[in-house]
Amino acid sequence: MNSLALPTFDDVVQAATRLRGHANVTPVLTSRTVDSEFGASVFFKCENLQRMGAFKFRGAFNALSRFGSEQRHRGVVAFSSGNHAQAIALSARLLGMPATIVMPHDAPAAKVAATRGYGGKVVLYDRYTEDREQIGRDLAQRDGLTLIPPYDHPDVIAGQGTAAKELFDEVGSLDALFVCLGGGGLLSGSALSSRALAPGCKVYGVEPQAGNDGQQSFRSGSIVHIDTPRTIADGAQTQHLGHYTFQIIQRTVDDVLTVPDAELVDCMRFFAARMKLIVEPTGCLGFAAARARRSELAGKRIGILISGGNIDLGRFSELLEEHPESRPAAAA
Ligand SMILES: *Cc1c(COP(=O)(O)O)cnc(C)c1O
Repeated sequence: MNSLALPTFDDVVQAATRLRGHANVTPVLTSRTVDSEFGASVFFKCENLQRMGAFKFRGAFNALSRFGSEQRHRGVVAFSSGNHAQAIALSARLLGMPATIVMPHDAPAAKVAATRGYGGKVVLYDRYTEDREQIGRDLAQRDGLTLIPPYDHPDVIAGQGTAAKELFDEVGSLDALFVCLGGGGLLSGSALSSRALAPGCKVYGVEPQAGNDGQQSFRSGSIVHIDTPRTIADGAQTQHLGHYTFQIIQRTVDDVLTVPDAELVDCMRFFAARMKLIVEPTGCLGFAAARARRSELAGKRIGILISGGNIDLGRFSELLEEHPESRPAAAA
């Protein structure tokens, strides 16, 4: 398993150069309320304010920027019902190449529309009877398209690592960094940046409790596959880590933590009410885990990656109603 050429921090630096002028340098926000609740300095890297609403733009744009002219001419194919689809469609449009996105026929209409709105050609499939990876591979083969997976690709990982790089460049070293974990592109990229720029910083991946395959994999030393977990954190409904992401995570991450869905909704409410931020459930994983451990974090400098903000407003209010406030409002 050591035959994979893993991306390094150099690749993250090169990705940052490719992204300059294309990706937003997202703001790092702080909250006096959070700092006093934690007794610590907490820095939020706001990738919900990235183009198309999530960090996924970074990895997609970096990967597509590296295509040769023949690859550009034929175009890219991706399978995703979520943020990766929009990230690929937008990046392809910006780079002037065709994009085909394979999505389940019951994907939210808003996501299909957003993907088409960015110029992507959408191919729908039946998630109960068809295999999207097979459809993607068939299209790639038939039309000479290049398949870009959502996380297990060196250029995707390097691109995702630029968010944490910006955070360290802006605020300096940290004692701990909390990162949302699905397939591990964001976490492995963040860990590459952290190890290079803040070697003493502890890096934690955070998953939904219902889908802790990453934690099981990290702790057992080999990739664990699970059924699609039932969680509101739809960006982390992955069934397993990737080969690249797992190796980097195993070598560079300090631990993988989990949080229950109800705590994600608490964080969504907090972000909206107190920080005026719309954050999707998956984007709350890092903050929820840090909050649950805040007594251990007193006096420290903490980074939290907010990964995305794409949630339909109807769904947002539904979640708040389904999960009434469970903790007293924090002191101002
Ligand atoms: C994709 C995604 C994640 C998980 O990222 P991985 O690189 O798959 O670990 C987390 N949050 C949001 C908003 C996402 O879109």
